[in-house]
Amino acid sequence: MTVVAVVGAQWGDEGKGKVVDAIAPDSALVVFYAGGYEPGQTLVADGERFVLHLVPSGPLRAGKTCLLGQGTAIDPRLALEELAILESHGVLAGDLKIDQRAQVVLPHHIEIDRLRGEAEGASGAPRHGIGPAYGDAVARRGVRMGDLLLEGLEARIAASIEASAREIDELGGELPDAGEVTKEYVAAAEKLAGRIIDGSRLIHDLTSAGKTVVLEGPFGTMVDRDHGYYPYIVSASTVAGGACTGTGISPRTIDRVVGVAKAYITRPGLGPLPSEVTGDLASTLQDRGGELSPTTARPRRCGMFDVPVLRYAARVNGFDELALTKLDVLTGIDEIPVCVGYELDGDVADEPPFEGQSRMQPLSEMLPGWKEPLSDCRSWEDLPENARAYVEFIEKNAGVPIRFVSVGPDAAQTIERVAS
Ligand code: GDP
Repeated sequence: MTVVAVVGAQWGDEGKGKVVDAIAPDSALVVFYAGGYEPGQTLVADGERFVLHLVPSGPLRAGKTCLLGQGTAIDPRLALEELAILESHGVLAGDLKIDQRAQVVLPHHIEIDRLRGEAEGASGAPRHGIGPAYGDAVARRGVRMGDLLLEGLEARIAASIEASAREIDELGGELPDAGEVTKEYVAAAEKLAGRIIDGSRLIHDLTSAGKTVVLEGPFGTMVDRDHGYYPYIVSASTVAGGACTGTGISPRTIDRVVGVAKAYITRPGLGPLPSEVTGDLASTLQDRGGELSPTTARPRRCGMFDVPVLRYAARVNGFDELALTKLDVLTGIDEIPVCVGYELDGDVADEPPFEGQSRMQPLSEMLPGWKEPLSDCRSWEDLPENARAYVEFIEKNAGVPIRFVSVGPDAAQTIERVAS
């Protein structure tokens, strides 16, 4: 039995999906332990392009069973919509399960999220009700997926709407009708009924039978609701600890924690990005790395690799090893800057500080680049010397063994370093 947690070490979009395929091709189950609306997995079927946000198309297409864990927040209507897209293209080879304890995203969660976004004049990124759904969960008035199939649902939904009514009204929004919402959600839940299960038990049964289970986190450590750059965070627990609370398994069950970091930094949206770069380097990373939000098509902010962030993520998550992705994107850059620390009020910080992000300056070192494309490299020895030196520099400075190096989007473009 092996239980592997795969966790983003930065701000998300590190390539966790691809790493899961590469490190655990034999897994019996892939569990998504938190979140509920990803920026988007692009799916191309029959020449048409779809962006899915909830249903994990990659592992399902590969024939895996997938579980949306207890720590997720789910709009059952979106789940049905995305399952229909997959099914209509004959790509639902696997099986999707949903934990009965996962929180339900209700229409007023989406409405209040939208209104708050508008009121804050925030980045304009679309909002999907995940934060308010988690808020209701903590306030003990949430509705869980399993509740959708039980008596007394309308009263619970009405109480949840009522608790938000004043704010929605003040912000000029529309209050949904509890009766109509109940009808719509019961209908959706009935279609999903066979998928709603006790996820903790499923994981337990599979691991007891000696199977491999992968627990994949959403986004990355730096937006974790407790350990990210507060308040520029998401509402989900993205770190390895969240893999236990988001599934209902013991910390003792996890055998391996694999961090995933890009060979540079990206960050969607607002908030501190200490190693941010602009100009030609930013455009190069955005263009070559395809660093556009699939939903808004806006370029992601980019930065040089941030060693203090990885050091921090490794400590908080207890990474056993790291997968470094998108190394191929750096080909052709003459000298590659790497952030090795921050200067803050005359001192040097070797990890992201508790406060002062707007005052700190990145300290960087320049590493020599390489010209050769990496996409055909299949072993450590195939990589140009400077590419290996870049990986070794990060490894040495952050103190995490880098076991996998990814040089392209395909599973085959993953180099596993064998200990010498
Ligand atoms: P996640 O949000 O961390 O799960 O990231 P995804 O798995 O969705 O990956 C983000 C994108 O990066 C996808 O389009 C991947 O195909 C792509 N990708 C992953 N690894 C590599 C890599 O090593 N090189 C390149 N060029 N693209 C990669």
